[in-house]
Amino acid sequence: MQTILIVEDERDIADLIGFNLERAGYKVLKAHDGISGAAMAIHERPDLVVLDLMLPEKDGFGVFKEIRRDPRSRSIPVIMLTARAQTEDRIQGLEAGADDYLTKPFSPKELMLRVQAVLKRADQAPGAVSVVHGPFRFEKNDLKFYLEGEPIDLTATEFKLLLYLTERAGRPQDRNDLLRSVWGYSDDVHSRTLDTHMKRLRQKLGGHASLVETVRGVGYCVPAI
Ligand code: CA
Repeated sequence: MQTILIVEDERDIADLIGFNLERAGYKVLKAHDGISGAAMAIHERPDLVVLDLMLPEKDGFGVFKEIRRDPRSRSIPVIMLTARAQTEDRIQGLEAGADDYLTKPFSPKELMLRVQAVLKRADQAPGAVSVVHGPFRFEKNDLKFYLEGEPIDLTATEFKLLLYLTERAGRPQDRNDLLRSVWGYSDDVHSRTLDTHMKRLRQKLGGHASLVETVRGVGYCVPAI
């Protein structure tokens, strides 16, 4: 059974999310402030964190940083919850490396789709496989990525994106195909999500950023070697 931690101070929202997740067969943990939320993510190591940004004690960005900083919780996928008006928060959240976000108010169905898509992404580790391509090395089993032998911290989403492109090196990948295969859905709003993740991925690739090419009018491509 997979465990999901909900960090949300508004108890009726936390209860509603918890109810829906439990009904779908997940084990649910709840924290109602930022400090206990970060501590629970690190010590309980859930499979996924649903993290509200507006929290007492420590806000969602602070909690997120703490989760990513600690090796025990670093690779746990995070879905951020933002209020409708806070577009800046959403962009900031994605740039910080959140795996996905939901804007309040959202339907239980929308939440379940996101949760399932993010967990599926984090969970895809078929067989003990390494993929090597130029300076890239992917260890699929433990979602580790190495650049010229140096470990680079990629989120589960960034790992999946780069691996998807690398396994199709030399063939430009259509934006919608990328969105569908990595996020599980595609629409105009999420087009922005894709570009934000790509930008961040390139930053992490540093001097090798040019290995993720933008193909105008199509999408992205990792060149063949
Ligand atoms: Ca809140």
